[in-house]
Amino acid sequence: MNITEIFETMDYGPAPESPTPALAWIKERQPFGLFVNGQWVKPASGQYLDSINPSTGKPLTQVAAANSEDVNAAVTAARTAFETWGKTPGHVRARYMYAIARHIQKHSRLLAVLESLDNGKPIRETRDIDIPLVARHFYYHAGWAQLMASELPGYEPVGVVGQIIPWNFPLLMLAWKIAPALAMGNTVVLKPARYTPLTALKFAEIVQEIGLPPGVVNILTGEASQVGEALVRHPDVNKIAFTGSTDVGRSLRRATAGSGKKLSLELGGKSPFIVFDDADLDSVVEGVVDAIWFNQGQVCCAGSRLLVQEDVAERLIAKLRARMEKLRIGDPLDKAVDIGAIVSSAQLKEIQRLVEQGVDEGAEMWQPSWACPTEGYFFPPTLFTNVSPATTIAQVEIFGPVLVSMTFRTPAEAVALANNTRYGLAASVWSENINLSLDVAPKLKAGTVWVNCTNLFDASSGFGGYRESGFGREGGKEGLYEYVRPACETAGPASTPSSKFPIAKGAVHPSNGSEPAIGTSLDEDERTVSEFEPSNGSRIALPAIDRTPKMFINGKQVRSDSGYSQDVYDPAGRVIGQVGEGNRKDIRNAVEAAHAASGWASSTTHNRAQILYYIAENLSVREGEFARRIVQQTGRSQADAITEVQAAISRLFSYAAWADKFEGVVHRPPLRGVVLAMEEPIGVIGMACPDEYPLLDFVSLVAPAIAMGNTVVVIPSQQSPLSATDCYQVLETSDLPDGVVNIVTGDRDMLSQVLADHDDVEAMWYFGSAEGCKRVELASASNMKRTWVNYGHPRNWLDPIQGEGEEFLRESTQVKNIWVPYGD
Ligand code: NDP
Repeated sequence: MNITEIFETMDYGPAPESPTPALAWIKERQPFGLFVNGQWVKPASGQYLDSINPSTGKPLTQVAAANSEDVNAAVTAARTAFETWGKTPGHVRARYMYAIARHIQKHSRLLAVLESLDNGKPIRETRDIDIPLVARHFYYHAGWAQLMASELPGYEPVGVVGQIIPWNFPLLMLAWKIAPALAMGNTVVLKPARYTPLTALKFAEIVQEIGLPPGVVNILTGEASQVGEALVRHPDVNKIAFTGSTDVGRSLRRATAGSGKKLSLELGGKSPFIVFDDADLDSVVEGVVDAIWFNQGQVCCAGSRLLVQEDVAERLIAKLRARMEKLRIGDPLDKAVDIGAIVSSAQLKEIQRLVEQGVDEGAEMWQPSWACPTEGYFFPPTLFTNVSPATTIAQVEIFGPVLVSMTFRTPAEAVALANNTRYGLAASVWSENINLSLDVAPKLKAGTVWVNCTNLFDASSGFGGYRESGFGREGGKEGLYEYVRPACETAGPASTPSSKFPIAKGAVHPSNGSEPAIGTSLDEDERTVSEFEPSNGSRIALPAIDRTPKMFINGKQVRSDSGYSQDVYDPAGRVIGQVGEGNRKDIRNAVEAAHAASGWASSTTHNRAQILYYIAENLSVREGEFARRIVQQTGRSQADAITEVQAAISRLFSYAAWADKFEGVVHRPPLRGVVLAMEEPIGVIGMACPDEYPLLDFVSLVAPAIAMGNTVVVIPSQQSPLSATDCYQVLETSDLPDGVVNIVTGDRDMLSQVLADHDDVEAMWYFGSAEGCKRVELASASNMKRTWVNYGHPRNWLDPIQGEGEEFLRESTQVKNIWVPYGD
């Protein structure tokens, strides 16, 4: 081709990156061992696995296949290292992490080429996106290591962390996992994905190079069934951090239930890409390229559902097809290539299967006229139109370069269509009208919303999902809390109130059992019987008017559906009242009411604060009555009871104060623009209260949740429910909208199970037995709801550190990051 012809066609010539240094690096080391306790060791099994180059389909090298014996060795090394690393000053950890970041930059080209060879993604992406983001992640978290002591007082590292990462961003996912873990003083055992182990092994070399103490980072290559599962079940692992498919995430939730292991899950997505009719369509086209053809569409937050306002749909689709004709697919090491290879033949077959299903279901498929390379695992960019929202390709994560498009007419319809998915990872909104974009962004159920941009990431801005996209955040300050625990959790409660009688239904009651009956200091007037004097001058003792608390659902006191009641006893074993025995139907009604009250989330924070103050005011008017009730139920002294009521009132004041102060932050990532990290309510929270302080526990859980805009279904203390049921009138007279707080009395564990199983409950808090915690965690896997449980450990609810504060506010919220670039 001569110069004139080149000017005519303006075609790109090949711009190949040499694989030679990377291949030489591989050759010198193969077969690769495992990295345990700072050493390269042979796998216990003696087995090795091929690592394939997806752009050729041929083996690149062999890596060790670890098994449970290797997992034991790595966890032991990590545990030993934790004893020192967990106590190493933040400044020292920061220096190590800074060194890691520097060394990643020093080896950046080797890492970029290795990643392209092993994963099939274009060198342009590994060189310009993956590896720079990896370095940035370590720099950013070196900063948090330095600041941990001052910025996260009262928190300590979790311990040994098991980390399982996928193949789509191998080194970047490693950085997202390892950097915050190390910054917070944890040690790690990491399993890379079966398909893409190489950059993790180069990372292990870097760890050696910088002299990180042995055992702080351990890397085990191998298969999920051998390494992943053993890591998840290992009793000495304190936390599992996972990125991958929703199905595996769900199985990990079940496998870790009740173990006390912390868990964070970054799972799948089917993210909407919403285009309003005033958007700049040429920018939109480039946005779509980045949304769904970046990394061959193998991106958990890929904009895989194109939602276009009807009047511009035809024009946009025509522009898109023209652009797709120009996309270049081929050798990932060619710097002029836009689309590389799919990671594996299995993934390629899965994409092909889903595309065929889309065609069978009646959608219209379009692909460019050019052909893909025949060697290796390639799939062309694909666009589906005429897609119905309920079809498989509109609902299922395809994880390939396949875009499905649908149309909408109004912003409300766009939001409804966008949220019509079980996922909630990310979304992008395209409009030249910033008012419209910022109105729509908070309505989208997604952890990240990009305005007029897409697939932007930065260490400062947390990333993570809602609903079946998982829970927990990576990046930002919020991501750090995934790797720490409140120190009080390990120290245990400072002191606990005397709980003098058994809580379980059917357990031996004190009056029949060995515990002595406890005298109460109950005011006499609580038990005196008034007298009635009819006209004949005789005096008749008057029985007290029966007060049987009902359920409190949708602002009304309603009878339990079960038609049964259960007795409430005082510590001496005397029946002091009865409450309704709630059942499934009551819980379902309460959840429905809580959902109907979702407008509470958009009430002003000032309004929420006012209502909390009002509840406190109304409670204080009845301080004596509430104190007497506590004495009656618990046998504690009147002074103690008054302290509890006053603490409850103070707590209501605290959350009224926080209502308009726990608001999020503005990040300044390295781009022209801002990221608004907004604290959003989670939705409907189910909560089971503990028994220690009947009134204070109830208030301590309900107040932060409603302060942040959630609506709640509460199971009060099973042992002493009357303090919560006495609150009905307080709530009724405090301007609280109907349905914001719903109360169902009865068997804590049975009712908690129903709440945890319920698909319309977004989070479940449980404070009860260890066995109950396990059941809640297991059941929550159905819709991947967030859980907060106490693993059977009591806390001192009177203590302002253990009983209130930011931990409660964080459990009541999720962070949404809204990216808003500016400039023309
Ligand atoms: P998986 O979820 O199976 O794998 C992710 C990681 O988990 C890998 O390291 C894998 O190991 C490991 N793993 C798998 N099963 C277990 C287990 N039972 N216990 C412990 N660890 C386990 O994803 P796939 O690679 O199979 O991809 C399948 C689909 O998942 C994709 O088509 C896509 O839809 C989705 N996916 C989503 C990702 C995301 O970022 N959200 C990333 C990757 C996939 P191994 O590699 O050895 O199997």
